[in-house]
Amino acid sequence: MWKRIETELENLKQNHLYRQMTVIDSPQRKNIEIDGKKYLLFASNSYLDLCDDAYVKTAAQRAMEEYGIGAGGSRLTTGTTTCHKILEETIAQWKHREAALAYNAGYIANLGIITALVKAGDIIFSDELNHASIIDGARLSKAQIVVYKHNDMLDLENKIKEHAGCQGLIVSDGVFSMDGDVVDLPGLVALARKYQLLSMIDEAHSTGVLGKTGNGVEEYYDMIGSVDVLMGTLSKSVGVEGGFVCGSKMLIEYLINKSRSFIFSTAFSPVMAAAATAGIERIRTDENLVKRLQENISYFCKKLQMAGLDIHSDSAIIPIIVGDEEVALQAMADLKDRGYYISAIRYPTVGKGSARLRIALMSSHTKEELDGLVEALVECLGRKVINE
Ligand SMILES: *Cc1c(COP(=O)(O)O)cnc(C)c1O
Repeated sequence: MWKRIETELENLKQNHLYRQMTVIDSPQRKNIEIDGKKYLLFASNSYLDLCDDAYVKTAAQRAMEEYGIGAGGSRLTTGTTTCHKILEETIAQWKHREAALAYNAGYIANLGIITALVKAGDIIFSDELNHASIIDGARLSKAQIVVYKHNDMLDLENKIKEHAGCQGLIVSDGVFSMDGDVVDLPGLVALARKYQLLSMIDEAHSTGVLGKTGNGVEEYYDMIGSVDVLMGTLSKSVGVEGGFVCGSKMLIEYLINKSRSFIFSTAFSPVMAAAATAGIERIRTDENLVKRLQENISYFCKKLQMAGLDIHSDSAIIPIIVGDEEVALQAMADLKDRGYYISAIRYPTVGKGSARLRIALMSSHTKEELDGLVEALVECLGRKVINE
């Protein structure tokens, strides 16, 4: 056993797929510090730069004084505090739903939602680029998994027809986490209704990013209320941690009773619940947060296009695909030398040979900072960009 583990680690190193953690010695915000050096961060999921927000921190401090740190029990025993209840009411109202349920993390939410909703004999239609937590939830559910081509509604309908009459779920990322493109929501919802399947969307990267007020993918398409099972995270634009699902009262009642990752885990801290509520309040009350992020996205894409890169995005995720894993790592190192921290994304997070720099924008980046990054990218990548 140990021999095999050692060999596998060795193989990862040889194939430039070995992974290590970077220790950041500052709060998560656009200016970070690593090993005593300062970097401009273009790799965070904290798109609205709320991880170190004063209002959110004050809310957390107040909750800590009033409720302490640990929840002390699972949500169904003694772990639900007023902070959890207010958070769920806030999410439901924000997302225009009857009810909401919060989980310890987005990953845990997807596992718990999917395994509760579908069983052996059901079918899950899943986009080929869906997040790992959806894939893992689907596998754990024992339902049959049918993977359709990325955002391809024709392929999806053909595959649904092959399984006519089955019960099940169509599930997709709202914004795809490594490509930054947006789900064809009108197409997906129409197919779910036509074939009486449930629709489920993961809003991890669309909440706080898409739509006029940052409400997410439904607002982006002017389709508020159209998804049956709307899932999201509190760990990205909201700047805290946790996952959520919202929908009808019956959906939430069912998950409270059946969702194992909700039932059999200690509740997340009331401090985090209060912080997440405050993060959502910040998004809802300061319209400039979302507006600045969206302006940055269009400005940055325009600048990349002027530099000769054919890149478009409506989300804060802007991948520059270089292909080779080693090239991606080298580009990341070169950018780091210039003071920019950007993640190189490799297999298995993306397919082999489609390694990329995954640029993530924040509302707090200035135009000058975006200009500087474009210049650095041109210097570090030259002609190594293979597509987009
Ligand atoms: C990050 C992410 C998750 C997991 O959320 P966490 O809160 O980080 O556990 C789920 N789905 C998608 C699409 C994600 O990008």
